[in-house]
Amino acid sequence: MKFAVFTKTDKDVSKEVNSVLKECDRYGFIKDEDNPEIVFVLGGDGTFLKAIHHYVDKLESIKFIGFRCGTLGFFYDYSKDDIPVVIKNILDEKYIVKSHNLLEFLAGDKIIYAVNEIGVAHTFHSLECLVKINGEAFEQYNGNGLLVSSPLGSTGYNKSLGGAIISHDLETIQLTEISSIHNNLYNSLGSSLILGKDSIITFEGDFKGAKIGYDHWSYNCDDEKIIEIKYSDRKVSIIHGADYNYLNPVKRSFIK
Ligand code: NAP
Ligand code: MN
Repeated sequence: MKFAVFTKTDKDVSKEVNSVLKECDRYGFIKDEDNPEIVFVLGGDGTFLKAIHHYVDKLESIKFIGFRCGTLGFFYDYSKDDIPVVIKNILDEKYIVKSHNLLEFLAGDKIIYAVNEIGVAHTFHSLECLVKINGEAFEQYNGNGLLVSSPLGSTGYNKSLGGAIISHDLETIQLTEISSIHNNLYNSLGSSLILGKDSIITFEGDFKGAKIGYDHWSYNCDDEKIIEIKYSDRKVSIIHGADYNYLNPVKRSFIK
């Protein structure tokens, strides 16, 4: 088994890294940072997102597994104390794998993938655009921005915007508004809209001064006129324990 370790950088996790290395050595796993079959992620959700993006060109041959170090860790079933048992379970193939489709959009001639969400936003001016769904006009939007999230991302920024939490086994994309303006002139939907995986969501307008954001990253989109977001065919595979239940991270993260 070829493996890599991906860690958060703002906190010392060398003890946890050593624990992973020791257990992998015990079972003859081979360290290969360039072409791993399994990536051990140590950190929080932000670290998990960065790990997936780091290997975005090789997702088809990789499985990710996270050991939570410190933060709530929505992507994680395990804490650092579970490292020895979980690595033995991997050797014994006692785990399940869940695959999750990414989202994608085209930036110039490059496809950009996102795990959680893709959005467009303007912080201090309102952003006006036409929202199309599957090529048909849906609404004229005015507000601070719009977000399209995957089921995985539904517990991230989407949730803070009042969007619904979507179970990871549903194949959906969710459109959520960021501080929409509602008055006699502007009247967009006002709630989040959950669509099937074949829906293509397009924003058309003048995005001068706005930013396109995806997961942890963003860039100025002054020259963009059309932003087309869809459910991708590409997937990320995450290892879970045999007794995996989606509601556990929801309860652990959000319910006291
Ligand atoms: P960040 O600003 O540190 O992340 C904000 C928080 O979102 C962190 O607590 C992070 O967990 C958590 N998070 C990330 N993905 C999540 C998911 N799928 N489900 C539940 N919680 C999640 O930035 P980051 O760590 O690079 O993460 C980027 C993500 O942050 C974005 O994709 C977006 O979903 C989210 N975000 C949320 C808001 C908001 O809620 N107002 C604003 C901007 C971004 P960790 O502490 O474990 O990293
Ligand atoms: Mn973070």
